[in-house]
Amino acid sequence: MDDKLFLMIPGPTPVPERVLLAMARSPIGHRSSEFAQIMEEVCERLKWLHQTRGDVLILACSGTGAIEAAIVNACSPGDRVLVGANGKFGERWVDMAKAFGLQVEVIAAPYGQPLPTEPFRAALEADTNKAIRAVIITHNETSTGVTNDLETIASHIRAHGEALAIVDAVTSLGATTVPVDAWGLDFVGSGSQKAYMIPPGLAFLAVSERGWQACERSTMPRYYFDLRQYRKALKKFNTPFTTPVNLVFGLQASLQMLKNEGLDNLFARHARLRDTTRAAVRAMGLELFNPDDQSASAAITAVIPPPGIEVARLRSALKKNFDIIVADGQGEMSGQIFRLGHLGFVSDRDVLTATAALEGALRSLGYDRFTPGSGVAAALSALSG
Ligand SMILES: *Cc1c(COP(=O)(O)O)cnc(C)c1O
Repeated sequence: MDDKLFLMIPGPTPVPERVLLAMARSPIGHRSSEFAQIMEEVCERLKWLHQTRGDVLILACSGTGAIEAAIVNACSPGDRVLVGANGKFGERWVDMAKAFGLQVEVIAAPYGQPLPTEPFRAALEADTNKAIRAVIITHNETSTGVTNDLETIASHIRAHGEALAIVDAVTSLGATTVPVDAWGLDFVGSGSQKAYMIPPGLAFLAVSERGWQACERSTMPRYYFDLRQYRKALKKFNTPFTTPVNLVFGLQASLQMLKNEGLDNLFARHARLRDTTRAAVRAMGLELFNPDDQSASAAITAVIPPPGIEVARLRSALKKNFDIIVADGQGEMSGQIFRLGHLGFVSDRDVLTATAALEGALRSLGYDRFTPGSGVAAALSALSG
């Protein structure tokens, strides 16, 4: 049906009407005082969302750009970095760090499992020369539905004293708590098309005072992402290059909605959507790719299809019969898992609808090893519990 498409992919995510309408106006000059006023409000709210008193920068790029900005400002060619890799995004930061000539030491875990924290502690503790410049961690590994124990890893980074914490919080910021100051994080990147409830096109980067000092020391070539320019512009509630003003109009509206909801409610909603989705999927006899509830992502749930059911056919049944788009696995995980995004503008009703649709799609493909309604019943019971 036209205009009924519901996105359950981990970005882009659904956008509220209030945000769409806020963007539907003529652009204004990005150097105007009217726009600076909007930026001032937006920057204040971004700090609130990041639980920081430090700076949060707005960049015109996708989430990957925010992490690139962090790396080129924190590091110099030849620097040693530790990178956590337990999925496609962790692997992306390994590749990126290598592309910038860094000496990369990978701490890995199998797909579907959280990063072990002990190897980070051991490597940082053994580094008595303080040669490790930074540790790059993906907080929520979107490709597998795993949330890494950032709090513990960050405490090991703090104990080292010199290494910077660079965090990909692209699908955790706004879905689960990322207390930037309390955990002592130095660069925290995120993107507009995830829990922010606005379309793709903006990235956000929180920078600590230690992070700013590193920007001054770095000898990495950089221009568009030279964060010192952003810091200077931010003092006038501006950006060094043209701001995507209409996306900022949308951001202003979405941050207002998030503020109205409140941080505790926001995180509780995402936790509830996660628990409900997991209960429903289990009740249908399906296997969760990350079986461990402790490290289960509040933003996305990865599911192993039942034997004989092809992911491509399941996704197309969900789309054709129910106007719901779910994600395939990424890279070599394509066809091995499907992923249900439940971050951003997603309510209890949406997860109930998706559960019923998943039941219908599975049955239409011949999978009948569950009692019809059992997924929905489990979802309802999780929601009322
Ligand atoms: C979406 C995402 C990104 C950023 O991807 P872009 O396509 O550059 O926006 C980075 N990390 C994680 C964990 C993500 O989910």
